[in-house]
Amino acid sequence: TVAIALFTQDLRLHDNPVLHASHAAAEEVLPLFVLDPDVEAAGFAVPNRLAFLADCLTDLDAALRRTGGRLVLRRGRAAEETARLADRLSAGSVHVAAGVSAFARRREEDLRDRLGDRLTVHDRSLTVAAPGTLTPVGKDHYAVFTPYFRAWQRTDRRTPLAAPRSLRTPDAVESLPIPEVRPSSPGLPGGGETAGRALWRRWSVDRYAELHDDLPGDGTSRLSPYLHFGCLSATELAHLAERRGGEGAEAFVRQLAWRDFHHQVLAARPAAAGDDYRSRGDRWRRDEEEFAAWREGRTGFPIVDAGMRQLAHEGWMHNRARLLTACFLTKTLYQDWRTGARHFLDLLVDGDVANNQLNWQWVAGTGTDTRPNRVLNPLVQADRFDPDGTYVRRWVPELAGIPGRAVHRPWHLPTPPPDYPAPIVDPEHLTTRLRHARGLD
Ligand code: FAD
Repeated sequence: TVAIALFTQDLRLHDNPVLHASHAAAEEVLPLFVLDPDVEAAGFAVPNRLAFLADCLTDLDAALRRTGGRLVLRRGRAAEETARLADRLSAGSVHVAAGVSAFARRREEDLRDRLGDRLTVHDRSLTVAAPGTLTPVGKDHYAVFTPYFRAWQRTDRRTPLAAPRSLRTPDAVESLPIPEVRPSSPGLPGGGETAGRALWRRWSVDRYAELHDDLPGDGTSRLSPYLHFGCLSATELAHLAERRGGEGAEAFVRQLAWRDFHHQVLAARPAAAGDDYRSRGDRWRRDEEEFAAWREGRTGFPIVDAGMRQLAHEGWMHNRARLLTACFLTKTLYQDWRTGARHFLDLLVDGDVANNQLNWQWVAGTGTDTRPNRVLNPLVQADRFDPDGTYVRRWVPELAGIPGRAVHRPWHLPTPPPDYPAPIVDPEHLTTRLRHARGLD
């Protein structure tokens, strides 16, 4: 008998319910990944994530081969291709992780139509809690994080599953070579479960609570791309962190709950990937020149420019920098969050529909923030989270010679650096547009 394990965003052997169930169901397992043209059509197949994905698939294939199996890579519509192989191999069961995006849900419906009862969808593969299972009375999802987190902490967890030791994959199925992709950012990390597990072992969660907002210290885990592609399981990480214990671990697990929170919002409201979750009646400004200055890291606000340049260079940005650059675009320049979210998705190696779109909405005040009009003043943020200016000097070479926190306000220097732009908005009026547009004055 044969079972198909259709890999999606769960590119790992450890704690993988899809692989585990396939292994338990049949003598032979076909571990399958399908490169789907619909992902490209939706604008999701960007070089940084494709390069990381190629690493993940290479690593997954190598790990499967060590068990005696191998990865089968195909190209085509995932449901169609999977069903075709299921028929050809007379597979008794097909297993897949439940996804939350509109794309993943269409794929799941399509699989269901083609495979009927042979399909099993595993709903605690990608997140710790299954989206849709934690709900306030009378509602289909939580719209506020704090009560969600309380409920999340009370729910039963899955016990992490061991990686299968030996697998057999049917010989007769041919596999495509893993494509080679050149990323658009030179500082991209290498993908895959092996790299992700090594990073987790190298990084220490112990000081996470005190360091996670320190921009130059760069003390967060950097596990986000491994979580996005499922090289690491959120359930297993929560389990490992809790076993370690302490304040750092607690704060880290809370971030994993934020990830679950956004996933359950998107599962309940798939349209929130593109539409305002809560409309504030915003009529955003459109200014291509200002947008280009933001995108290219030449707004004249060093802390904003540093974040945007880190994104271009590494395909990743520190969370504090994501918050303040997104806030600058939506609440200072008062431009549509969708344009900024799109730019992030073009580059972020961890670019994720649930986490990106809903964090952007949170910042823009159209999402789940209970204080939708809060504005993060980039100068206050800079003084607080980059007090010596080290983060700015790392990413903005034109300012590398300016010592200390003076680097945050080059317009105050007796001779401002000639090759760095003047601020594109008056530093004294950073909140004006939002307040005016939302009638707060
Ligand atoms: P750590 O601080 O080590 O946290 C551990 C893990 O918790 C992260 O890897 C991530 O999976 C999860 N996490 C942490 N913070 C959040 C959060 N606010 N929301 C959801 N999950 C969180 N995260 C993405 O994974 N993909 C995105 O596309 C994405 N876009 C964002 C856009 C904006 C505007 C903002 C403000 C945040 C965005 N985030 C996104 C959330 C967060 O910035 C990143 O998850 C984090 O910076 C990744 O770094 P890390 O792995 O070192 O995080």
